[in-house]
Amino acid sequence: GPSGGGGCEEKISVSVRLRPLNDKEMLRNDSPDWECINSTTIMYRSHLSISDRSMQVYDQGAKEVAFSVVSGVNASVFAYGQTSSGKTYTMSGITHCTLVDIYDYIDKHKEREFILKFSAMEIYNESVRDLLSTDSSPLRLLDDPEKGTVVEKLTEETLRDWNHFKELLSVCEGKRQSKSAQRQIGETALNEVSSRSHQILRLTVESTAREFFTNDKFSTLTATVNFIDLAGSERASQSLSAGTRLKEGCHINRSLLTLGTVIRKLSKGKTGHIPFRDSKLTRILQSSLGGNARTAIICTMSPARIHVEQSRNTLLFASCAK
Ligand code: ADP
Ligand code: MG
Repeated sequence: GPSGGGGCEEKISVSVRLRPLNDKEMLRNDSPDWECINSTTIMYRSHLSISDRSMQVYDQGAKEVAFSVVSGVNASVFAYGQTSSGKTYTMSGITHCTLVDIYDYIDKHKEREFILKFSAMEIYNESVRDLLSTDSSPLRLLDDPEKGTVVEKLTEETLRDWNHFKELLSVCEGKRQSKSAQRQIGETALNEVSSRSHQILRLTVESTAREFFTNDKFSTLTATVNFIDLAGSERASQSLSAGTRLKEGCHINRSLLTLGTVIRKLSKGKTGHIPFRDSKLTRILQSSLGGNARTAIICTMSPARIHVEQSRNTLLFASCAK
């Protein structure tokens, strides 16, 4: 669909990824209900055989958007879908591929000097935690007149090299709520917690022309790309089906719900009020959503029949975001 800017480049790119049946679904003799026909069509009820295509998902769904960060354009790449549909799997592939490409680009552009900075945070119950710090107390959001919303005291590590990036990734993996919950209260709780938290990995790319002309105001470029592994979309869809009574104990996720509203408004090119300030997630991402920023949303789906209702909701979200 048309985006707000009116240019020929779409500001919001949306794609759908169908994962293969998992072992549990196979054992249950569950049948796959969906099939990828080609890059633009998913067909309902058919046979299915999908191999791992992380590279292809990155190339078609996220590369252009994530890579715009090297030319000074802010970007956000989201994985949206129900719990166990493949969000974490998809985002880790995309983050990895982006970093490979960025390091490759840096190698080929010796005329500029690059600095990469990395931060990681988790939003759980509208509370923000630093995934690179030993201090797990909630972080405050502050309004900076120049930078917009900033996360106070968020750790920002300057990346030395590829190995340093991998080290930091394993640090934040160890700090996720889901991991500590797993250690404390077992696997049921793990699914419960990880389905409710959002993870944001944030990479800032600064580059400066080595041949420095003082009158060249474009000699330094700075931009940020965010990789967002969202809470399970079942946390938003219950409330979207009008008239359905909310299930007892079902936590509607404010950040996820607000993100949906913001994306729908942005994709329709709405210029009026966009409720960025209604949730922590949309406040943190405001400068990387809308305006000149680029957005890619990868909607992940399970092919299994028992998930058909959530898969429909996910496709509905995908078509509204487009
Ligand atoms: P989510 O983060 O949405 O809850 P995960 O990314 O953890 O889901 O995926 C659930 C399981 O399915 C994991 O074991 C993951 O390795 C596997 N999986 C997800 N997507 C794929 C895929 N495209 N190909 C193969 N395995 C996948
Ligand atoms: Mg996950």
